[in-house]
Order: sequence, then C-alpha cells, then structure tokens
Amino acid sequence: MNIKSNYKYLLSDLSSLKGIGIKTTNLLKKKKVNSIFDILWKLPKSFTDRSLSSKIKDLKIDEIQTITIMPQKYSFPRVRNLPNRVLCKDETGEIDCVFFNSYEGYIKKILPIGKEVTISGKIKYFRNKYQLTNPKYISQNSSIIKQKHNSYSLTEGISEKVYNKIILQIIDNLPAIEEWHSKDILQKFNNISWNDSIKKLHEPENIGKYKENFYQRLAYDEIFSTFLVNSEIRKKIKRIKKTKKKFNIYLQKEIISKLDFSLTNDQNKTLDEINKDLCSEKKMFRLLQGDVGSGKTIVSLLSAFNTINSGFQVAVMAPTEILARQHFLLAKKLFPKNIKIELLSGKSNYREKKNILRKLLNMETDIIFGTHALFQKKVEFKKLGLIIIDEQHKFGVSQRKRLSDKAGKNCDVLLMTATPIPRTLTMTIYGDMDLSIIRQKPNTRKPVKTYSKLENKVEDVIKFVKKEIRLGNQIFWVCPLIEESKKIDHTSAVKKFEYLEKLFPKQVFLLHGKTSIDEKEIILNKFLNNDFKILVSTTIIEVGIDFPNANVIVIENANKFGLSQLHQLRGRVGRGNKESSCILMFKSNLSENAKKRINILKDSNDGFKISEEDMKLRGFGDILGFKQSGIKSFKLADPIHNHNLFILAEKEIKRIENEKEDITRFKPLLKLYDRADIINDIA
Ligand code: ADP
Ligand code: MG
Repeated sequence: MNIKSNYKYLLSDLSSLKGIGIKTTNLLKKKKVNSIFDILWKLPKSFTDRSLSSKIKDLKIDEIQTITIMPQKYSFPRVRNLPNRVLCKDETGEIDCVFFNSYEGYIKKILPIGKEVTISGKIKYFRNKYQLTNPKYISQNSSIIKQKHNSYSLTEGISEKVYNKIILQIIDNLPAIEEWHSKDILQKFNNISWNDSIKKLHEPENIGKYKENFYQRLAYDEIFSTFLVNSEIRKKIKRIKKTKKKFNIYLQKEIISKLDFSLTNDQNKTLDEINKDLCSEKKMFRLLQGDVGSGKTIVSLLSAFNTINSGFQVAVMAPTEILARQHFLLAKKLFPKNIKIELLSGKSNYREKKNILRKLLNMETDIIFGTHALFQKKVEFKKLGLIIIDEQHKFGVSQRKRLSDKAGKNCDVLLMTATPIPRTLTMTIYGDMDLSIIRQKPNTRKPVKTYSKLENKVEDVIKFVKKEIRLGNQIFWVCPLIEESKKIDHTSAVKKFEYLEKLFPKQVFLLHGKTSIDEKEIILNKFLNNDFKILVSTTIIEVGIDFPNANVIVIENANKFGLSQLHQLRGRVGRGNKESSCILMFKSNLSENAKKRINILKDSNDGFKISEEDMKLRGFGDILGFKQSGIKSFKLADPIHNHNLFILAEKEIKRIENEKEDITRFKPLLKLYDRADIINDIA
C-alpha cells in the first residue's frame, strides 16, 4: 500500500521529507516538532505579499518588492570584504544584486546572463543605484515568487523559504483520509474535509480566521478525540462488575447527628449519588468537585463509613501529611469506637509501619489515612472497597486510569477537588469520570471581605492585623516565590517574616518550600493550637487544611497569582463563623485589566464563577489545575471561543454511547491526535 494513501504518513518522522537535511530536522525537533503531523499545527503568523511586480523605475526604497529582470554583467572583485555584484535591468532601469558570501557558481546559476529572472526582496538605494542585497526569493519561474509567502514563528535557524517548502511538500502529499465524522456533524462545518481544512489552515489569506469552517472543524476534531478517549475509559470502567456494597443507610444518620451543623442540600445530593454508586454493581469512578470550604470531607467520610459497614476497607489519600492527619482525627471523632482507624505517617517507625501493614492485610484495620505513600506496592489490603483521593487535581487521565485498574474490580474510586474550573474544562479534563458537584456553601459561612491595598500602605494593614490579634484571631501572610520557575526564592517571605517579627515578637512563624516536612508539621500544629498569631509563608498553605481560628489572609504581590489561585488562598480563611478578610497587596497601581480581575474576586465568592470569568480575561492556560492536569493542551481548540464545539462534541459522544456505535472508524483520528496510547486496548 502506498503509505501516502494512509494517515500513517502523517505520523512518520521528519526524515521522510524530501530535500530536508538532518540539520533542519534537528532544529525542528528542538521545537518539539517530531512528526509531519506536528508541523501542521504551527500556524503561519503573517505573510509577505510578493505577488505584485513592479518596474525598476517605480521601485520604492525600503519596501519588499518583486521585479522581473534580466542579468547583464557579473562583477566578482576577488578582494576580501568586497561583495560580488550582478548588474540587472528591465526596460525601465537598472538594479544591482549584491551578494556577500555567495559563490560565483551559485550566483551564475541563479542569475544567468540574458535569462529573465523574478526576484523579490527589500529594495535599497546606494550610490545612485537601486540594489538588492543577498536576495533569497529568486526564480526563473515567476509564479514561484509571485505569491503570498507565509511567515511562521518557528523559523529560528531555518529560513522562511526552506520552511515554506516543507509545508508545501506536506500539503501536496496529504494522504486521502477517510472521513471519520458522521454526516450530521460534518454538515455543521459545511462538509469540509480534514485535508481541505489543513490546506486552508496554511493559506496566507486565512490567517486568524478562527470562525471559518476549516478552523472550526479542526478544533472540533481535537475536542472530539479527547472526549472520545474519555468516553472509552468511562465505558470500560462501567463494564467492570463488582460486588454490590450492602449497608444500612440509617447508620450514617447517627454520625450526621453528631455534627454541630446540618448538611447542605448539595452535600446530601452528592452523598446520595455516591451511595447509589456504592450499592450498584458497576464500579464507581467519580469526581466530587466543590469549592474550597464547601464541605467535601464530611461527604467522603460518610461514604467511607457506609463502605466499612458493608464489610470493606477504605483508603483515604491526602496530598500532605497534615491534611491526612486532620482527616484521620475527624474520623476518630465521628466514627463509632468499633471502627478501626489508622494513619500511615512518614514519621511512624519501622515497627509501627510493619504493624500497620500487617493489620491492613488481616482486616484488622477498616480505614487508613495517609499520603501517596498509601500507594506503595507493599501496602496491601485484605478487602479494599473504596479509595478516596483528596485534592488531586494533579492526576491526569492516564494516572487515574492506572489508579482505577490497580484498585481492583471491587474497589470504588472517589476523587475530590476544590479547583472549580469552567464546565468546558471539566468535560475535557474529567470526562472519564462521573461528576458530583457541591455548589452551595454552608450558610453559616460569611463571605470573606476582600480588599486591595498598595504595598506602601502596609502600615494600615499592620493596624488592622493588630486589631484582629487583640480579638484573638490569627493571620496568614502569603508571599509569592520571586522566581516561580526555580521554586526556591523565598527572600520576600524571609524579609517579611523579619519585618513582622519585630512588630509582633514571638508571634510570627515562617514556612517555605525549604522548611523540612517535620518542622512544617510542628509549625502548622502550633498555628492550629493558636500558639502564635501570624503565619508567614509562600503558597504552601494552599491545599485543604482547616484553620477555623484564622480569619485574615494577607496576600502580597497579588498580581503574581491567577484569580483561581487567589480564590483558593482566600478559601483558607472564613472557615469558622467569624467575619474574615482577605487583603490583596500590590506593588503599584493596577492596570484596567488587573482591576477588572480583582473586582471579579471582590464581587464573588463562587469559585466556579470566578474561574469562568478569569478564563474569559486570561485564556484557559492559566486556570489552576489545567496546566498540571497532565492532559495535552489543545493546539487549536479554545474552551472560551469554541464553547459551542465542546457542547457539540459532548452531544455527539452521548449519541455514540447511546446508539452503541462502533468506533473503529475513529482509529485514525485517535492515532493522529496522539491519544490512542491511553486506549491502546480499544482501537
Ligand atoms: P472542603 O470542601 O474545602 O474540603 P471541608 O470539608 O474541609 O471543605 O469543610 C470546611 C469546613 O466547613 C469544615 O470546618 C467543616 O466542618 C465545615 N462544614 C462542612 N459542612 C458544613 C455544613 N453543612 N455546615 C457548616 N459547616 C460545614
Ligand atoms: Mg478539603
């Protein structure tokens, strides 16, 4: 079979391109362009119109122009530093083509005396004569020159001409690909084929035409392939038959009655959804999404309790040791005495650990809390029925799939995240899971008052902090890392600590990335016990920990953070029932756009809304959780501008699922869009 009639041509290595040397391929590889397919998504940024030619007498100096000329005379001075020249003319005048560092043979070949040549470049005027230096666009075939030539942003080390040649070669050789979309879908894009879309994508006239059919179709392909993989993973997991969990639903009421609050409607609703899954014969693979402070922990502990009552064990994994311990202590407080609860801590000694492992295997432990250490091979369960993973927005699709596989067929999986993200992103990132959302916050909670302050007004802030301390409250003081990339620069936090320590002797502690885990835990526990008043830190306090007595958070250099991240940080306070405040500090006056963003934060306490708005202003790449999610970012599709395509893809996936349609025809799509590795066993 001719490889070019097959999509596999597109996946082949760059070396299969004709006339492209190893140097060029290596340059491209440096830019993560490895296959022919990869090149397709590097879009032209602009183009130079060389299509109109002029006569020599009408040439405009310092502009790129195209002329057709006749070479007359060579002048090769053979003196160092003097350039070679070719005198050329047309019926209206003369021009010198000037060459530095070009061989005579080459010059003679491209500008043969007496033959018409079309040439394009920036025109200069020197010693009473027009001249063109080192012309790159030269051909006896005028149509090659007389067109619009694309510029790509990737051409460092590669000339535009060579790059355009590569693109043209690829476009000329695009394999005839069988359409993978249904007729209905295709119609939405005016039936444009994948090939034609790619061609159009690289036509100079189409730069920036994001709304046209060709662009929309290609964006849709990307979204759809992601959703299809998600759907296949979901289907696969759903097909797993497990032992239904049987428990007395009324027992959970006893625990609920011990709480000093009643559950919100959303907490009840999500708890029902999870309980239903536990009782079903289909394996649960569910995400519990809820804003910071929406009360996910209690929902997860109740489902853990029900799982235990049905005779299974539960593992709860938290991102930090402190959070694991906090959950562990809560379980100890809430669960009846007959339930055996353990904590696998990094600090337990060898004997203790061995003992914990033994008890897990002997079913002498019902529920265990810990960090990712719980996933070591040697941690084995007798009868694991539920894994709960808290705050794990860093898990990507394939990691989750592995987790589910590893958990075994009778083990349900519940992930929790406090990273509210726009729905289009949720569909993209978590489409392989069922979704439960807690939108409502406990109504005992007063919204956090949010202020912005210029840094030179820090004394006002200090006054405010003093007042709060007098009232018995505690304060978080967050300083961003100066160099985010290196993750080591704590100078601003250290300086602030020294400054505050003078004002509030013995009342200030410092936490940063270099603080050892043990020390960190000691400090956080002291803070929890109200042993000191101000905790200065870099952003490590972001996740999950509950400090009901802290009601002020000061965030320095707040424009270094994304809105969602600020919202997360703000969520560290306002967890008790006191009035609480978030003070955003800025180095200088805010730009209009920055003001808009901050106002969103001031006006709303709804993480979902904030992330939608933030995304509209900044693009989706910055939304917390997206970059870390481990999924490939889209090349064309954009969750804001292509919102409708996400919805369309979602509908189409549902249709395919409902009609149990065979998905073999999508195999090329999945292979090309590099998602097939996840579903190897499907396609
Ligand atoms: P998150 O969803 O961020 O993990 P948590 O589960 O840590 O939130 O809950 C935050 C705080 O809210 C905890 O102190 C918890 O006891 C409290 N809480 C949870 N549910 C309710 C409720 N329905 N009413 C009042 N307080 C609640
Ligand atoms: Mg939490």
